[in-house]
Amino acid sequence: MITEKIPYKIYLNENEMPKAWYNLRADMKQKPAPLLNPETHQPMQASELAEVFCKELVAQELDDNTPFFEIPQDIRNFYKMYRPSPLVRAYCLEEKLDTPAKIYYKFEGNNTSGSHKLNSAIAQAYYAKKQGLKGVTTETGAGQWGTALAMACSYLDLDCKVFMVKCSYEQKPFRREVMRTYGACVTPSPSMETTVGQKILAAHPGTSGSLGCAISEAVEKAVSNDGYRYVLGSVLNQVLLHQSVIGLEAKTAFDKYHVKPDIIIGCAGGGSNLGGLIAPFMGEKLRGEADYRIIAVEPASCPSLTRGVYAYDFCDTGMVCPLSKMYTLGSDFIPSANHAGGLRYHGMSSTLSELYHQGLIEATSVNQTEVFEAAEYFAKVEGILPAPESSHAIRIAIDEAVRCKESGEEKTILFGLTGTGYFDMKAYEKFHDKEMEDYIPTEEELAAYRKNLPKVES
Ligand SMILES: *Cc1c(COP(=O)(O)O)cnc(C)c1O
Repeated sequence: MITEKIPYKIYLNENEMPKAWYNLRADMKQKPAPLLNPETHQPMQASELAEVFCKELVAQELDDNTPFFEIPQDIRNFYKMYRPSPLVRAYCLEEKLDTPAKIYYKFEGNNTSGSHKLNSAIAQAYYAKKQGLKGVTTETGAGQWGTALAMACSYLDLDCKVFMVKCSYEQKPFRREVMRTYGACVTPSPSMETTVGQKILAAHPGTSGSLGCAISEAVEKAVSNDGYRYVLGSVLNQVLLHQSVIGLEAKTAFDKYHVKPDIIIGCAGGGSNLGGLIAPFMGEKLRGEADYRIIAVEPASCPSLTRGVYAYDFCDTGMVCPLSKMYTLGSDFIPSANHAGGLRYHGMSSTLSELYHQGLIEATSVNQTEVFEAAEYFAKVEGILPAPESSHAIRIAIDEAVRCKESGEEKTILFGLTGTGYFDMKAYEKFHDKEMEDYIPTEEELAAYRKNLPKVES
């Protein structure tokens, strides 16, 4: 069965790593809608954004036309510590599933932060340092982004202030300690340290926090402290740009062996790994050079693409951030407390939202028990203990491979294995003890959140 033609792991050489990030928006005819000022509803100007974000990152954020951005040498050097990441041919999984499908995954978990987030963390920290800033503030949910940013900041000697969603802060003490090992200051959110945190606590005493709320606190902290800017680990155009290294490496590796994927699958929280993984492939699709089926996978308990509306919304609960046009559940949406699988953000990258709106990508949602079944199956067969987030993609990759078995089609499937799950053993424990439940919000619940969308004339 197993042929040796394509190796288990396709590694690139250092000099085959991308020297420029690819900006997918350059090839989109219909561009993603611009960020709007939350008060005037006018497109955000670079000068306004520069109060919150680093200057060079603002330029990347607003640039819909430049296809390539050179990756500075210092960032490439940092990338070399843990990249290129392997493109793995999942021979064992194929054999176990007895499928004619060929399955590949791009593994981003081979670094201490345990996920792809480091690809953008180092870029954002680099530009902050270059601007002469003292430090950066951010939010973290499950903790992967905070960990990645703490690593990048410590490498560049920048101060790092992390607002960590309270329930994660309490449930994931080990991630918190990894961040502190790298010198970051970690505060559970909502906190009394910010005005917006105090307001949220007054309105919802005992709240376990949310990403949207932690974002508001981190932004406030940045704008009210000299020499600080805010950085965000997903959703933004700049983050998708940095994450394009994932797709560019995957494409180079495939090209070496003259392989072309038919189906590309990624989990979608804010959309950064999926946006990065598909970037060069979607570029070809947009230019009419090739076609790919692309599937975004989200949790049934936080279904922004599959059940959200395409509208302008706040990126945060405190409504201090710019408005972004995206598929959203409403900025005060908080997934059910029993949701353990990550991907909890209420909205979605505006680029992916626009591609989905145009029918260029598909989206599907999965229940968390099915996700953990896939996670465990994958761990046993391929050896890697996957992050719950990544396991959303594994679930659909397996389902597609099984469908190939039924139809006899030899499809080539690529999915993004975004990270490892060592810090998610509480969730695995719930699954093993059969305490994990599926929660699907009702139409009434979703409608109630939708009522609070800002009214923007388009
Ligand atoms: C953050 C994270 C995700 C989801 O974020 P995206 O921006 O949608 O990519 C997925 N997998 C892992 C391991 C993560 O840490």
